[in-house]
Amino acid sequence: MTPPAAADAQVGPPDAAERLRAAGLRVTDSRRAVVEALVERPHASADELFAIVERSVPATSLQSVYNALGDFVDAGLARRIEPAGRPGLFELRVDDNHHHLVCSVCGAVEDVDCVVGEAPCLAPGDAHGYTVRVAEVTFWGVCPACAARAAS
Ligand SMILES: [Zn+2]
Ligand SMILES: [Zn+2]
Repeated sequence: MTPPAAADAQVGPPDAAERLRAAGLRVTDSRRAVVEALVERPHASADELFAIVERSVPATSLQSVYNALGDFVDAGLARRIEPAGRPGLFELRVDDNHHHLVCSVCGAVEDVDCVVGEAPCLAPGDAHGYTVRVAEVTFWGVCPACAARAAS
């Protein structure tokens, strides 16, 4: 019998290797480092993630980070968002249909919970006969830090 305390110890954010295994991906040092970089820095570009991964896996390359990210997206472990005019950004928060707020001055990105909680949470006025599956919403604005800088 497992005492309840031990069961409670299992609760918490899964570590990188667990996330990879749960997504059906083989665990490698470089994949693990990319997952950890995504935990540390959500909404990061491949370049930004590479800079983080390089610290723990010096032998890595930008190409291997791209490959890992592609595998993660295919496996449903990560999601790629593409705000207009920005490089693709990656995050581990998938499947909750959340949206993003993007600062048009500094490029900061924040998660915005989906109001409805399931896709599609917005319907077009006229769907032209399409079956709408997803509404990807990007709210553009100015973040508080940039607003404060502009005001001073
Ligand atoms: Zn800003
Ligand atoms: Zn997000």
